[in-house]
Order: sequence, then structure tokens, then C-alpha cells
Amino acid sequence: MTAMILDGRALAKLLREELRADIQTFVETIGAAPSLAVVKIAGDPASERYARTIRKGCEDVGIAFHDHTLPSDTTQTALEETLNALSLDRAVHGILLHLPLPPGFDANRAIAQIDPRKDVDGVHPYNIGLLAMGQPTMVPNTPAGGMELLLRNTIPIKGKRATVVGRSVVVGKPMALLLLQEHATVTIAHSRTTNLAAVVREADIVVAATGKPSLITGDMVKPGAVVIDFGVNVLEDGRMVGDVDFASVAEVASAITPVPGGTGPVTNVMLLRNVLRAARLQRGEGRE
Ligand code: NDP
Repeated sequence: MTAMILDGRALAKLLREELRADIQTFVETIGAAPSLAVVKIAGDPASERYARTIRKGCEDVGIAFHDHTLPSDTTQTALEETLNALSLDRAVHGILLHLPLPPGFDANRAIAQIDPRKDVDGVHPYNIGLLAMGQPTMVPNTPAGGMELLLRNTIPIKGKRATVVGRSVVVGKPMALLLLQEHATVTIAHSRTTNLAAVVREADIVVAATGKPSLITGDMVKPGAVVIDFGVNVLEDGRMVGDVDFASVAEVASAITPVPGGTGPVTNVMLLRNVLRAARLQRGEGRE
């Protein structure tokens, strides 16, 4: 293997230390901790697990965590009322609505109830619009973490060719916009892209966000390219793998994120950082 490992666990640890110090300063100045409300609908084990992870992360850095679990027979109206009330509650700085919602709920209508200044997941159309305009905003956590891995490892981005494979609203598209903001020349590939291998091979920076295990293989990657793998895929034998075939790609890439231990750990810290950002914004400290 020749590629340098972009170690997400180590970076997440460093970012948590930085955040803990920043939150301490905030508390000393304001007299209250930043606070996060997590809204979810009961009955989904994945959302229970995720909420536990977030709660632990909040406790670790000094963010107040509030759980708002609605009963499994809750209605769209009750969900929207909860989000609206939290948006108006001055003691709540960040709101995280667990997605996807169960069948029958309209996620877009629910998201529209969240005050954009409290939208720590960066899913409100206002924040997505600001991101598209290149304005400072709440950036979705997964691509924010990917950028942090690139920037903190001083990977050159300006003028480089980047290919993002995947165009979802929360991962692929915002990642492409963030790379564009850093002056990369960006291509977005997706399931209808013809000759994906050729499109990937053009790139100095390859980003995979497809949910397809080992889609990107070593023969598709330009020697020396930097590879960011957002994929989280659990195989039948229980192993977790990314969208990138790590063994073959690590032979040709200059740097690569492993799965697990790459983008995942950084994502969670980005959420916590957005809570502090939201709290500062609401205390009139303006944009960072
Ligand atoms: P989506 O299913 O919403 O989007 C997948 C994207 O991949 C779509 O744009 C789709 O194209 C494209 N795609 C699917 N198959 C192919 C293919 N064969 N060739 C090219 N493109 C393809 O997934 P998400 O964006 O939500 O998540 C992507 C991955 O990231 C998943 O593995 C998910 O688990 C993971 N993830 C990781 C996080 C982290 O912190 N690391 C957090 C969130 C997600 P089309 O639009 O044409 O359908």
C-alpha cells in the first residue's frame, strides 16, 4: 500500500478538543451552554442508536442535549408543531430532525418548520441556497467533515480536478459545492453517468457517496489521486466497507480515507460544531 491514510478518528479527537475549549469560552461569556434538540419518531432502532451517539458527543464537549421523541402514532401536524415550538424556544440553539421520517410523513414540510438559524444539519432550503451562493451557512455535516479531512491534511484543492460520485442533497451535491468554493474544477457523477471509470480517472480528488460497496476500484483511479470515501455499507458477513475498494485503490492513491475510521467520526463532530455556530449566531455574534 502506498497511500497515506486520512485518519478520521485522530482528526475527530483533535476537533473535539478544539470544540470543548470554544464551548467553555462561550459558556463563560454567555452563562449558558449551547443546546441541541433532537426530534425523532419512536420505533426506529437506527434513529435510537444515532440519538445515543449524538447525546454522548454532546455530553463529551459540553452541549446540553434534549430528546424529543414523538410517539410512533404521531401525526405530521404534531411533528410540525414540535419543530415550530423548538424554533421559537430561545433556550434551544440547534434542532436536528432525524431523517428519513417513517412512510407517510412529508419531510420537506417538516424541515420548513425549522428556523434556518437552528438548522444544524444544513437541510433547510434557505441554508442549501446560501451554500449554492457560496455564502457562509450551516453546511451538512458529512460533506463538511470530508472538507475538514482535506483541509487539515493540507491536500491541495485549488485548480485541481475533483469528481464527486453521488448527487444526494445531503452528501454529494453539497460536497461538490464545497469543493467548488475551494476552487476545484468539479464534476458530479451519478447512476446515469456513462463510463464512470473515465470520469473518475480524470480526477485529482475522488469523492464517493453512493452507498454501493466497492464501486470505485483501483483501475478507475488516477495514480496519486486523493480519495474520500463517504460510503457506509454493512456486508452480509457484518463487515463495514465503503464505496471504494480500499485494497486496490490504496495501491494507486496518494491519500485515502479508510472505512470505518475515515469520514464517519468527523461527521459527528461537525454536527456539534454547527450547534456552537448556531448558538453564537443567535447570541448576535454574527457569522463566524
Ligand atoms: P443516496 O442513496 O441518497 O444517493 C446515492 C447517490 O449515488 C445517488 O446520487 C445515485 O445516483 C448515486 N449512485 C448510486 N449508484 C451509483 C452507481 N452505480 N454509479 C454512480 N452513482 C451511483 O445516498 P447518500 O448520499 O445519502 O449516502 C451516500 C453514502 O454515504 C451511503 O453509503 C451512506 O450510508 C453514506 N453516508 C455516510 C455518512 C458519513 O458520515 N460518512 C453520512 C451520510 C451518509 P442517482 O442520483 O442517479 O440515483
